[in-house]
Amino acid sequence: MPTFGGISPAASSGLAALAPHAAAGVSNSAGPVEDSQEAPTPVSLYVHVPFCVSKCAYCDFYSEAAVDPARYAQFVDAVLFEAGHWSHYDLLDDVPTIYIGGGTPTIMGDELVRLVEGLMQTVRLRPGAEVTVETNPETTDIQMVARLVEAGVNRFSIGVQSFDDSVLRTLGRCHDVAQTQRALQALRESDIPFSIDLICGVPGQTFPSWEATLEQAVASGARHASVYPLAVEPGTPLEAAVLEGRTPAPDPDVAADMMLAAEVALTVGGMPRYEVANYAQPGHEARHNLVYWTGGAYLGVGPHAASMLPYPLYEAVAAGEGWEVAAPDAAHVPARARFTREVTLAEYLRYPLRRPEPLELLTAPDAAREDVMLGLRLTAGVLASQVDAAGLGGVLQDLAEQGLVELGADDSGDLRWATTQAGWLLGNQVFGAVWAGPEGS
Ligand code: SF4
Repeated sequence: MPTFGGISPAASSGLAALAPHAAAGVSNSAGPVEDSQEAPTPVSLYVHVPFCVSKCAYCDFYSEAAVDPARYAQFVDAVLFEAGHWSHYDLLDDVPTIYIGGGTPTIMGDELVRLVEGLMQTVRLRPGAEVTVETNPETTDIQMVARLVEAGVNRFSIGVQSFDDSVLRTLGRCHDVAQTQRALQALRESDIPFSIDLICGVPGQTFPSWEATLEQAVASGARHASVYPLAVEPGTPLEAAVLEGRTPAPDPDVAADMMLAAEVALTVGGMPRYEVANYAQPGHEARHNLVYWTGGAYLGVGPHAASMLPYPLYEAVAAGEGWEVAAPDAAHVPARARFTREVTLAEYLRYPLRRPEPLELLTAPDAAREDVMLGLRLTAGVLASQVDAAGLGGVLQDLAEQGLVELGADDSGDLRWATTQAGWLLGNQVFGAVWAGPEGS
């Protein structure tokens, strides 16, 4: 059956009338509307799936729980329609990575497989592209994993969080360790690399519990791990429990010690740190996240998905869509556009192509400063020449005097600034100083 915007004509019937470009019948894999001799800009794709089995106590991500499964098909139609629409602006002609996150994408079952298959028809993937699906233990089984791999997924990221049932209960997770072990077995049998997410600094979590979790993480077969200290986000059940005294507030010193223990255990286990909170076997670093951390371009589809595009690309889309573009201002020439669509699922399903809100335009100096800040989150650090070009040499010197960053030569002999061990523990101080720039120091 011919596809239209990556979705079948029947499935897209309610949406096609909304898409002027799609209505021209442009096939999504047929390339740009106008032929261009220029190489397309690499743009990674993020899909936000806003469904979960239930809401975790600490979660402030946008997702809805206990949703009528009929919504899954509507959502997949909307995402494929949206991705197909943006593909006509040459945005998805060289896609180095796709990340389908959430939420809990695997809750959608067959519809997730249809989503992956549809995206494969909608975008032009770069050869060897990384295609990740985020999953949770309660919705991961061997058949689902096999079908996703067949559809083109070549990496999974699973929200394990802890191998201790009492910690999982405090976090309000809807799975237990037995389900986690079954899900990990399914991932191992697929022979596809996977990452696990862990949380430390949970009230009531003991050091032996955390060490046992790290041990099991290393033994799980994961090739990548993300480790975050628990944060109490406004408006979450965890915040209410802390404010009402039902749960003690997480202790940041305990969390810092647990982060240090994670660094040791994961490094010894063959996954050295490559980012402040991320560890990987060499060659298994998360390429999609590296796009975020190195100032690359990415397009988010789905409600609450974030995007960042070089400004000329954004301007072309805005012009095509009839969105207002700020009048040129010689003092603030935008270099990049960062935007989200903060809409509910219901609003998104009604019309997936809303104008970005909020929209942030970054000037070249803003972007350079942000690139240095994000680069210092990586163990590889940032080229000294890049720091100087951003006008941040003095800021980094000040941080070096406090022992938070250091200058050294990489394997090619190039000078790079990198965060020290003390700097990792005071990361907010380092990143804040860089973001504030010379005027802030
Ligand atoms: S599974 Fe993830 S997105 Fe869903 S509620 Fe829990 S933390 Fe939030």
